[in-house]
Amino acid sequence: MQLGPDAARPPQSQAGIYLYRVSGSATDLLPFDVAIVGAGPAGTACALALRGSGLRVALLDKATFPRDKVCGDAVPGHAFKALRQLDPAYVDALWQLEPRDDVRRSRLVAPSGNSFYMHWKLPAFNSPRLDFDAALLALVRQYTATEVLENAALKTIDITADYARLHLASGQEIRASLVVGCDGANSVVGRRLLPEPRLARAYHSAGVRAYFENVAEAESGTTEFFFSRSHLAGYLWLFPVGAGRYNVGLGMLSELVSKHKIDLKKLLLEQLATHPGLASRFREARQLGPIQGFGLPMGGGRQRPASGARFMLCGDAASLIDPLQGHGIDLAIRSGIMAAEQVRQCFAQQNFSADFMHRYDEELQRRLGPQLAHSFRLQRLLGTRPWLMNLGTWLAQLPGLRRWAQRLVG
Ligand SMILES: Cc1cc2nc3c(=O)[nH]c(=O)nc-3n(C[C@H](O)[C@H](O)[C@H](O)COP(=O)(O)OP(=O)(O)OC[C@H]3O[C@@H](n4cnc5c(N)ncnc54)[C@H](O)[C@@H]3O)c2cc1C
Repeated sequence: MQLGPDAARPPQSQAGIYLYRVSGSATDLLPFDVAIVGAGPAGTACALALRGSGLRVALLDKATFPRDKVCGDAVPGHAFKALRQLDPAYVDALWQLEPRDDVRRSRLVAPSGNSFYMHWKLPAFNSPRLDFDAALLALVRQYTATEVLENAALKTIDITADYARLHLASGQEIRASLVVGCDGANSVVGRRLLPEPRLARAYHSAGVRAYFENVAEAESGTTEFFFSRSHLAGYLWLFPVGAGRYNVGLGMLSELVSKHKIDLKKLLLEQLATHPGLASRFREARQLGPIQGFGLPMGGGRQRPASGARFMLCGDAASLIDPLQGHGIDLAIRSGIMAAEQVRQCFAQQNFSADFMHRYDEELQRRLGPQLAHSFRLQRLLGTRPWLMNLGTWLAQLPGLRRWAQRLVG
């Protein structure tokens, strides 16, 4: 990792601290105004939203891009809507991405086998995160003066009265006035700085996924969700991701996984071999690569704080995944943008206190809280009552009630 002052930028930041060159020594200290940890959707959105702020922004990630992220790869329409509000050029560029599958509707299959289609209002696409996240980072590089540091893993962090000090696994250190923790489900920033870092199992799901090709009767433009008695409070998904490939996965509440000692990888393969709506379609399918798993920290319940003196958390680090549908890319992007708004306020008022940062928590609650709480209640209701899911799917097939079902699920 080699850094140096960018000739195109002012030599001194608004916070009055300077950027030094890393020479490779373990004692080097790099001062920035803002250090964003994690260059996934939350971190890149935050960096894009800080464009033109005049602040010295570092965006660091332990990975080198393109990097994979275990996900269903379905980028919700609200992700594009939020990015478009920053600059339509971002969305126009993302819409050139290949491979991708433009999504127009979802098919929901109840335990009874009944199914119905929901049509999406906002344009959206599925694309492997390997490609999508690299495209987001390319936008940061193209449009902002952000210092992007790859292969820069945060090991630990401490907050002093005057700054945050980030200790990297390489032995190097970064100093910043503010830290935005966008480092995902196992956030180091959250674990180090929150008084109550562990998320209750009730607000946590586990998910596994693999890529397949040659899946029969799969339609481009349609994401499919299968609910069954064996994996309620979760679902099996089949999402086209372009180039004839499918992201196929299974997610479930962590408390059920541990209570019933469920092996999700095994269950996924069992379901693909035996589920009445899937077995024939997967008979000739080819699995591409291993099944991989990852955690989903969900929002909507008793929310942990997402800020404190000199720091904020966004996306999965702030446990913002929608508990009903499992999407979090949009919420990561929206929270990254909200954090950037708070960053600007902090520098404008030179106030980095916990009290002032709490405004960010209030904004999260105001703008995302009601949706997450609604999804959490619905997930609890449907997840324990298969008959309700069957009834809902049946009712949704009746003309006039489909719109009601679509509004209910969101
Ligand atoms: C199985 C599964 C399926 C899912 N399906 C969908 C879906 O279809 N649609 C959807 O919208 N959401 C889905 N989600 C949720 C979605 O993946 C997350 O909500 C989203 O990735 C959150 O973005 P983020 O930027 O907060 O975190 P991430 O995307 O996890 O990015 C975090 C970044 O931080 C970096 N990082 C981590 N630790 C450190 C460190 N110590 N130092 C430096 N960098 C670090 C990582 O390398 C990574 O690049 C799914 C999740 C799972 C697990």
